[in-house]
Amino acid sequence: MGHAYTYRCDHCSFEARFNEGHGFLIRPQSLDSYLNAGEKLFHYKTHRALKKLAQEQKELFVDAAFRIYKCPHCNLLFDKVDVTVFDNGTPVHKSEFRCSSCRSRLKRTNIHRLKYAVCPACKKKTFHIDPRKMILWD
Ligand SMILES: [Zn+2]
Ligand SMILES: [Zn+2]
Repeated sequence: MGHAYTYRCDHCSFEARFNEGHGFLIRPQSLDSYLNAGEKLFHYKTHRALKKLAQEQKELFVDAAFRIYKCPHCNLLFDKVDVTVFDNGTPVHKSEFRCSSCRSRLKRTNIHRLKYAVCPACKKKTFHIDPRKMILWD
């Protein structure tokens, strides 16, 4: 189950939706079952890293979910499929994302504490969450 949050710009009315949480296919599962399903849900580099890990070790567990990230440099928001691979509870692989605008490493953000972000359309700091438009999905 996840949430979709709508952000709206007070200045130019641009709207965007950001997903957070587990979905129908994006869910915790064993690495073998992910690879056996034969679907490439993740970024090709992540997929390649997972295949390599599976060859080296057995009994790995993969957790994947939509997470919301913010660029610490330009304050743009992104939702990404975050993939973490665990070997007996220890993370052995973790996704990393970069800002499409400045290439800084993105940081996970707590959307409930985030007061504003930068609007991707007009670049002003007037991008706010619209609480009326939050929806649940699964
Ligand atoms: Zn705007
Ligand atoms: Zn950036």
